[in-house]
Amino acid sequence: MIKKKALVTGISGQDAAYLSKFLLERGYEVIGGERQNASRNLWRLKALGVDKKIKMIPFELLDENNINKEIRRGNYDEVYNLAAQSYVDKSFASPIYTSNVNALGVIRILEAIRQFSKKTKLYQASSSEMYGNTDIKFQDEKTHFKPISPYAISKLHAHWMLGLYRNAYNLYCSSGILFNHESPLRGDEFVSKKIVTDLVKVKYKKISCMYLGNIYARRDWGYSLDYVEAMWKMLQQKKADDYVISSGINQTVKSFVNEVAKNLKLDIKWTGQKLNEKAINKKNNKIIIRIKKHLFRPIEIKSTYGNANKAKKNLKWVPKTDFKTLVKIMCDKELEKYK
Ligand code: NDP
Ligand code: GDP
Repeated sequence: MIKKKALVTGISGQDAAYLSKFLLERGYEVIGGERQNASRNLWRLKALGVDKKIKMIPFELLDENNINKEIRRGNYDEVYNLAAQSYVDKSFASPIYTSNVNALGVIRILEAIRQFSKKTKLYQASSSEMYGNTDIKFQDEKTHFKPISPYAISKLHAHWMLGLYRNAYNLYCSSGILFNHESPLRGDEFVSKKIVTDLVKVKYKKISCMYLGNIYARRDWGYSLDYVEAMWKMLQQKKADDYVISSGINQTVKSFVNEVAKNLKLDIKWTGQKLNEKAINKKNNKIIIRIKKHLFRPIEIKSTYGNANKAKKNLKWVPKTDFKTLVKIMCDKELEKYK
């Protein structure tokens, strides 16, 4: 049987690691697209034992010539564009760069496919951030987008360009509107990973206290390993389309903290309000979490809550990992480092 060939861009990231492993297990030849000037930090691929099974190529979203060359000569069956400037916070500091990478970078890929490799199917990593603060309780594919960060606007630009190339040029390109998904391989800047790593450090007395911003923000948190399966399923359909991928849970950052504390057997109580709110370790009365103003965002999505019924129906995809299990997986992995 002829092996399918897939290019996974943003190969050093969280989702790329799980997706590459998933594709290799299904007999794919996986090519990893690495950005220029990257520190070649492939710890995630190493952690999953797949670093030696993937051929690396340079793939820089800012570089049109690089993209044209690689798409033309790669003759890919599938391209998964996971590369992005993926931090909402950083996008406020670097709006031009964020748009150039996340929006124009995707148009560079679409143009390369249109000109040189029309049979190639494209998966684009869209984001629940595109919804912004909507009045609709559950967000699905029909919900209006009201993006409120440079990151979200850049992702929506790419999302709409994908729709255009699908309709105008008949390209096979699908967007996954993914809600937050975490794992032990999540970047340290994201709140889930930060809470787990810092509270484990508190437990082992490496630090005395950790700091958070808005603990009342609500997120629909799922597990990255579950979500990469949905990406693949999207490209196995007869017709390209857009799909919401979410877990259907909606928890506050504070409840994420409480669940982590439970897993780490830290008995905590919350006192105070607003910037004076804090979590105290009941065992020794020490403050282990404080709220800091500089960790609040200039403008913030209060809540995300996805409705993945279309994916459940058309892709036969369901999230397998619930909130408590996700937190346990992340805590267990972090605790291993201290054993
Ligand atoms: P990561 O931040 O872990 O990975 C992003 C990847 O993009 C890294 O490999 C990074 O390389 C690479 N990259 C950054 N800039 C460029 C560039 N200019 N050219 C080429 N590559 C670049 O993201 P995740 O794995 O968490 O997410 C995957 C995708 O899904 C992203 O597009 C993200 O925006 C999107 N998404 C993620 C969600 C989540 O909850 N995880 C939710 C919704 C959407 P380097 O390591 O060198 O920085
Ligand atoms: P995002 O939803 O893609 O922005 O993912 P994050 O994990 O970065 O943030 C999730 C939520 O946690 C946001 O509403 C943040 O405002 C909130 N949050 C509270 N404290 C922190 C913090 O210290 N770091 C981060 N990254 N987010 C925080």
